[in-house]
Amino acid sequence: MADSFDVVIVGGGPVGLWLACEVRLAGPSVAVVERRQDRVLQSRAGTMHSRTLEMFDLRGLADRFLAAGKHQPEWHYGMLDTQLDYSRLDSRFPQTLRISQATTEKLIRERATELGVVYLAGHQAETIRQDHSGVAVEGVSDKGRFELHGRYLVGCDGARSLTRQQAGIAFLGHEGTHSWLLGDVRLDLPEGKSPMTKYNEHGGLLIAPPGEDGRSRIVVTTPDETDPALFRQEPTLEELSRITRQILGTDYNMRDPFWLSRFSNETRLAERYRSGRIFLAGDASHIHAPFGGQGLNVGLQDAFNLGWKLAAVIKGEAHEALLDSYEEERRPVGKQLNDSTLTQNVLMTAFSQGGLGLRKMVSDCLAFPEVNEKIAGQISGFSVGYEDVGPLRGFSDTRCPPGAGIRAPDCRVRREDGSEITVYQLLSSGRWLHLSFGKGASVSLVDALRKESVIRVRSAERPTKFFDGAAAVLIRPDGYSAGVL
Ligand SMILES: Cc1cc2nc3c(=O)[nH]c(=O)nc-3n(C[C@H](O)[C@H](O)[C@H](O)COP(=O)(O)OP(=O)(O)OC[C@H]3O[C@@H](n4cnc5c(N)ncnc54)[C@H](O)[C@@H]3O)c2cc1C
Repeated sequence: MADSFDVVIVGGGPVGLWLACEVRLAGPSVAVVERRQDRVLQSRAGTMHSRTLEMFDLRGLADRFLAAGKHQPEWHYGMLDTQLDYSRLDSRFPQTLRISQATTEKLIRERATELGVVYLAGHQAETIRQDHSGVAVEGVSDKGRFELHGRYLVGCDGARSLTRQQAGIAFLGHEGTHSWLLGDVRLDLPEGKSPMTKYNEHGGLLIAPPGEDGRSRIVVTTPDETDPALFRQEPTLEELSRITRQILGTDYNMRDPFWLSRFSNETRLAERYRSGRIFLAGDASHIHAPFGGQGLNVGLQDAFNLGWKLAAVIKGEAHEALLDSYEEERRPVGKQLNDSTLTQNVLMTAFSQGGLGLRKMVSDCLAFPEVNEKIAGQISGFSVGYEDVGPLRGFSDTRCPPGAGIRAPDCRVRREDGSEITVYQLLSSGRWLHLSFGKGASVSLVDALRKESVIRVRSAERPTKFFDGAAAVLIRPDGYSAGVL
């Protein structure tokens, strides 16, 4: 096996695997170093949001995920009574999808295999060092020591990231102050009782709809879960059942746990997402309590943002400066993610009389459709845009055309020969898309790209309101506009 790759990724969880897929799709070689021998079987992330489904749709993969999960139009915010209504999102996927992280990882891994990603299971990275020309990673596997070289290295190695530590990047934030207990368990729930949230002076509780194996995810806390010594204690079914009865008066015959765990509201954000040739993505760059089901979704979008940029620089299509836009675009999203979970944390630890009043007031506010839609847009990743970041540096064209950084919606376009295709289908090969209407204008940045990297389509008509008045639109490989003319 060659020991030199264009990109080496440390950590073969979902984010590392997805990043590998994106780099490989564009051509460069990539190796993933993963210390585990086997796949993760615990459900962990159970919520996939609609922007993530759109991301998979942009690569022609959404149906694989939809077939494996369960459609869920509403989901909780801060365990409040009023749920967020995702069915109002203007998307082909107005929903959240209940799908276990184990299944998500399995599907991404299948894609990585199809694309020829080198996946080195049972390889634990120990030392990472970089110089002006590349990065080396050394470590140990069951066959002995290994050393790999990459032009770039990305740490997708989770919350306790070795990459982050060895790159000297600070992880700014605070320790946990409150803990939650969770279990994937069997329950005898009466009809219509799931999903369920319950919150009172005894504690807070959330029951998600049953997963793929028929077990329900239950999450509980009480006002007393504030002792840091408790955070490290092994959870038990008895404890979960006791707290559930304390809040609900019943435990619905709780039994047969597949996974019991505890998490806290420890919240941190990497001070930088890049140090020279080393990058961070996913939990290596942001951690928080899993409220709203966002961490994996944001991590996958980090990878989607970085993959095509690394490939463009490796192929000599763009200058190094393009890589700086990764942190500029994605770190604010990580910050917003942490703010969102901290806000929910306030609501989810508000057991006093005033706190319960605050919860009722916010819950009532969520009943206003505009408020509900705004927060659903934020949590689902829908309202993420890069409009404020300025021109995409690294290309010979340095202007920032209007409309750059906006999420391009999917819609059908009619080509001049009369055939129809969707915008997302056109983007599925991971190239840029230049769409022009009418006489055929062109967004100037397109001239700075290689011909083979852009699909050019002249559309006979302007399909949705996003394209109203436009003569041409250039869309990046990750589905955000790079300019509207
Ligand atoms: C209870 C719970 C519920 C959650 N629910 C949701 C949800 O509904 N939606 C959502 O979006 N997110 C959710 N999350 C968050 C989600 O699980 C994480 O954000 C996600 O796992 C991050 O993926 P990752 O690939 O960045 O990191 P990880 O999944 O942690 O993967 C990192 C990988 O790196 C490997 N690794 C680490 N160090 C090394 C090394 N030195 N050498 C080699 N390999 C190494 C590890 O073995 C691991 O496989 C939840 C989390 C929890 C705990």
